Amino acid sequence: RDRLLGGFRRTSDRLSDNLTGLFTRAALDKATLDEIEDALIASDLGPAMAQRIRNRLAEGRFERGLDARAVKEIVAEEIEKVLAPVARPLDIDAFPRPQVILVIGVNGSGKTTTIAKLARRFQEQDYGVMLAAGDTFRAAAIAQLRIWAERIGVPILAGPEGGDPAGIVWDAVKQATGTGIDALIVDTAGRLQNKRELMDELAKIRRVLGRLNPAAPHNVILVLDATTGQNALAQIEVFKDVAGVTGLVMTKLDGTARGGVLVAAAERFGLPIHAIGVGEGMDDLRPFDAREVARMIAG
Ligand code: GDP
Repeated sequence: RDRLLGGFRRTSDRLSDNLTGLFTRAALDKATLDEIEDALIASDLGPAMAQRIRNRLAEGRFERGLDARAVKEIVAEEIEKVLAPVARPLDIDAFPRPQVILVIGVNGSGKTTTIAKLARRFQEQDYGVMLAAGDTFRAAAIAQLRIWAERIGVPILAGPEGGDPAGIVWDAVKQATGTGIDALIVDTAGRLQNKRELMDELAKIRRVLGRLNPAAPHNVILVLDATTGQNALAQIEVFKDVAGVTGLVMTKLDGTARGGVLVAAAERFGLPIHAIGVGEGMDDLRPFDAREVARMIAG
């Protein structure tokens, strides 16, 4: 929790300082409103949100004058309005077993770590978890996932480097079925450099899964690195249709992360946000709480 607060504090400090600095002036004139709007846009909240907050401030009557607290409260309220509808935890009980969770995202986004964190969380809730190493392109990715599986104590199905990911997934589903596995979490390759190949590979995995179980994959989670700011939005754009993304996890919100991009993502795509990553350890995953995150971004 401290680490999360620390990360957001840095984000919101910026926004907060920007806002606080503006209140040496008495009137909320056009120039001040412009500055507030700029500060909001600079914090990655997106122009639509900035405009809405500006409008609320412009029409607001502040009986005891306008102070930074009042503005931050309005900012937090507006952010929460956008985040609340997309805050949705992953629900293992929502589907017949095993629920297949495909995890996608570009290399370095925190995909492997997030898989470990999810496995850990489900295991703590007494669900049977299995991992499948579907990123066969990088030997390091397979090795890394094995290490996590061992550390957490969950079974993993992995093949050789360069193997067919769809084949791994096929075997994993077969193995996970009827053996007490509630959630099968599948790692996938994330080389965006070769988009065509990557998309074909994901499509093939989906076809194979569909043949075994028409409802699978039940969840397709896109992992995004919050420190990439606006880039995260571009990645959603690329993956959402071709990979059939059903939800998001945003990582690295403990660092210099700009939590504002969560708001922009929620506003633009309306995809469920399941959780946030707040560190490198397997326990550093938090369910997404709209109110909490809104207040932290607003400062
Ligand atoms: P992948 O290439 O997408 O599988 O990414 P990894 O899971 O290997 O993560 C890339 C780097 O980001 C590693 O050094 C992780 O420890 C780190 N990382 C992942 N999630 C988080 C997070 O929530 N916070 C921080 N600070 N680091 C993270």
